[in-house]
Amino acid sequence: MADWRVLTEEMERLKLEGRYRPLSVWDSRSDKWMTIGGRKVLQLSSNNYLGLTHHPELKAAAKEAVDEYGVGSGSVRTITGTLDIHDELERELAAFKGTESTLVFQSGYATNVGVLSSILGPEDVVISDELNHASIIDGIRLTKASRKVYPHKDMDALEAELRDSGGFRQRVVVTDGVFSMDGDIAPLPDIVALCEKYDALVYVDDAHASGVLGRSGKGSTDHFGLHGRVHVQVGTLSKAVGVAGGYVAGAQVLKDFLIHRARSFLFSTSAPPSVAASCLAAVRVLKNHPELVERLWDNTRYFREKLLSLGFDTGASETPIIPIICGAPERTMRFSDALLAEGVFAQGIVYPTVAMDKGRVRLIVTAMHTREELDFAADAMSRAGKAQGLI
Ligand SMILES: *Cc1c(COP(=O)(O)O)cnc(C)c1O
Repeated sequence: MADWRVLTEEMERLKLEGRYRPLSVWDSRSDKWMTIGGRKVLQLSSNNYLGLTHHPELKAAAKEAVDEYGVGSGSVRTITGTLDIHDELERELAAFKGTESTLVFQSGYATNVGVLSSILGPEDVVISDELNHASIIDGIRLTKASRKVYPHKDMDALEAELRDSGGFRQRVVVTDGVFSMDGDIAPLPDIVALCEKYDALVYVDDAHASGVLGRSGKGSTDHFGLHGRVHVQVGTLSKAVGVAGGYVAGAQVLKDFLIHRARSFLFSTSAPPSVAASCLAAVRVLKNHPELVERLWDNTRYFREKLLSLGFDTGASETPIIPIICGAPERTMRFSDALLAEGVFAQGIVYPTVAMDKGRVRLIVTAMHTREELDFAADAMSRAGKAQGLI
């Protein structure tokens, strides 16, 4: 009889290499202090940048939507799964982003997979930054387009690829707006200029830039003043927006095309009405409370300065994502465990998510952290960092 010996061996190997991580189970009744196994710890690893997961207006919108519409949408969007609230969310998001249209998917992952796999055909080429998110890589894997990868943010290499790709029907350059593991920002003005020179389409994934970069968190296109020059802006509703879902913002023809061709859109039931309602409330909160994003950046500057003055290596970080580069997987996980013992949760991230010698503990500052909490975290990091020989 067949058994799971292949999977069992693989798991044994992960354990030997110090890469076996069981899921942590949290109670999440607050936006920053969470409890695990009865212990209260300060959360510095959540993507809940603005504390919107617990915002009263988002919660009220979800409850109202349940009473009004029920708990599920009942179908895919193309049959009976487009409720007025889904339509309203897309209109509001388009106005917020300053684009002709937006189309909402069930997640950011589903957005990248659905968009890339449908807009690219065998006559096309896609040119992608080597550190782009896994959902971009998976979307590209599903196409028959030619694929080129350029070294991280290397504009000379990107130009060389563009110069060599004259014969293709469409050329699409894809980049994360903010890179999720390093917290650095894509050189979007340079990418846009090159794409204009070589007649290529620009595709930016703003998952970690939505609610973080630009006025009121409108994203990297707004941050750099590139309105009208970026063809595809992907965003997520799951991180700073605090709920769940993803969207693509761009031309009306892009939306029309995706409604007919994007398989992750066509063949998966639309978001529950409560989710759409909370997302709609979140966009309104972002629009009406620009001070949330300002507070996020104040905290980011404060905390990064503290860590640098303690002597930590924060890599290339220029956003609220602050990696502490530790090196080998075992050393990374030891630092993360030591922080947990000090009452701070900061996720260790190791190979294969990052290179074998580039393991890091990734911190994400939020608008909700107080100065006292950030000081508490910095003290814990100082003690744990000294104990592990990191500083
Ligand atoms: C998190 C992330 C996604 C996926 O978004 P979800 O809404 O969580 O599915 C896509 N792209 C990037 C760059 C991300 O960081």
